[in-house]
Amino acid sequence: MSLEGRESEVVAGVHPQLFVGGKWRDAEGQKTFAVEDPSTGKTIAEVADASVADGLAALDAAVAAQSDWARTAPRDRGEILRKAFELITERADDLALLMTLEMGKPLSESKAEIAYGAEFFRWFSEEAVRINGRYAVAPNGATRLLTLKQPVGPCLMITPWNFPLAMGTRKIGPAIAAGCTMVVKPAALTPLTMLALADILAEAGLPDGVLNVVTTTATGDVMEPLIRDPRLRKLTFTGSTPVGRKLIEQSAEGILRVSMELGGNAPFLVFEDADLDKAVDGAMLAKMRNIGEACTAANRFLVHESVADTFAQKLAERMGAMTVGRGSEDGVQVGPLVEGKARDKVAELVADAVGSGATVLTGGEVPDGPGYFYPPTVLTGVGEDAQVFREEIFGPVAPVFTFSSDEEALRMANDTEYGLVAYAFTESLERAVRVYEGLETGMVGINQGVVSNPAAPFGGVKASGFGREGGAEGIDEYLEVKYVGLAL
Ligand code: NAP
Repeated sequence: MSLEGRESEVVAGVHPQLFVGGKWRDAEGQKTFAVEDPSTGKTIAEVADASVADGLAALDAAVAAQSDWARTAPRDRGEILRKAFELITERADDLALLMTLEMGKPLSESKAEIAYGAEFFRWFSEEAVRINGRYAVAPNGATRLLTLKQPVGPCLMITPWNFPLAMGTRKIGPAIAAGCTMVVKPAALTPLTMLALADILAEAGLPDGVLNVVTTTATGDVMEPLIRDPRLRKLTFTGSTPVGRKLIEQSAEGILRVSMELGGNAPFLVFEDADLDKAVDGAMLAKMRNIGEACTAANRFLVHESVADTFAQKLAERMGAMTVGRGSEDGVQVGPLVEGKARDKVAELVADAVGSGATVLTGGEVPDGPGYFYPPTVLTGVGEDAQVFREEIFGPVAPVFTFSSDEEALRMANDTEYGLVAYAFTESLERAVRVYEGLETGMVGINQGVVSNPAAPFGGVKASGFGREGGAEGIDEYLEVKYVGLAL
């Protein structure tokens, strides 16, 4: 292993095994896979590589724990979440370092994710005790109508590598609050943070079998039997749209409750009346948060032609001045991309845009040396035929397109299969209302470059998926409504 000092200590503190029924255990045949530090390409840990039988054992544990767990007092479930929130907060520095080592993002960003991810536990600890029903007199007066909410049952949660903690806690938090048990499969690129979280939840008092964690590289083979198992009641997935489509098909067999948080292609609109400095501040967040590796990342900057040059120059100055390096080093603002394949894709998208006439204002060159670094890059003069107009970049590249009217801006913004989030900068309230009502997305940021908030419903429309995570809506994804007709 390539680590020393505190880095090696935080990795050594993680159980690199499967967490099933409250016990840590090896995968069948003691199979393991390597986890890499993307800033060096070196292995930092070997983690259990689950088989189909291991995956089914995790589901067995979740099914066995379901009925007792559903009967626990809401307050007790809330207190476990609250305790876990406190433990995560106490250990934020170690968890952030662990996350940076496996995922690459700068420590400051990992700390921000730890705080954001933990907040879902605090939020849902408060929601656990607010699961309510209704009572009504039927219109004919002869019966009474009662509704109650009950846990959906055992859930399968599949999460991506880009937010190794928060994409888990915003599913695990509401499931625990609602009284569901679960099997969690984190991304093979970043399993360590989720394994550390399993330990924290056990320490916070979560009963055995409520949460089970399965790490594997045989992902499709191990997940499909679980999805097709009639004992599973819900699938919640965060990841790419092509994988989401496949999983929706598999879920049809068991008529599962399904939540899909899929890809994005966020437009970032800058109107001619925008405060340009505010817009550039917002752009830095919307583009550079998480090195651009976010479903919410601004993918297309659509800027009014009268302010496009000034906006692009200001953005290029700010992005070009960022410090790129290993995420655990002081002062680093931009870490490596998660793997070589991701960097190749970003380089290919930039080459395609340049090939179709775009100009590089800053960045645009793959650096020499180890790790999967790519510099912050701003492109201008990009045409709608460039691949970056349609495809998720998932890297620190800002392509600037121009528009000449509000109608054209909205047409361009909505001209995508995706519909997760959009950002718009304008000083006119009337224009802001017209724009947010006209955007085909699940979320809109007006004069702000980040919308994620545990107290708000996060989710998309169109090919960005369905279902909401966070907010008052988040817990409903894990509850079934039962209606009781009561004759008098
Ligand atoms: P991905 O390739 O779709 O993988 C996501 C998860 O699905 C991983 O755990 C992956 O396992 C698993 N997976 C892959 N193939 C599978 C299969 N056949 N059956 C079951 N599970 C399978 O996506 P990613 O590259 O990790 O993440 C980036 C994508 O996530 C982007 O499109 C991004 O926009 C989206 N995202 C969306 C949101 C949102 O809330 N809307 C948030 C964050 C990210 P492996 O580890 O084996 O790959």
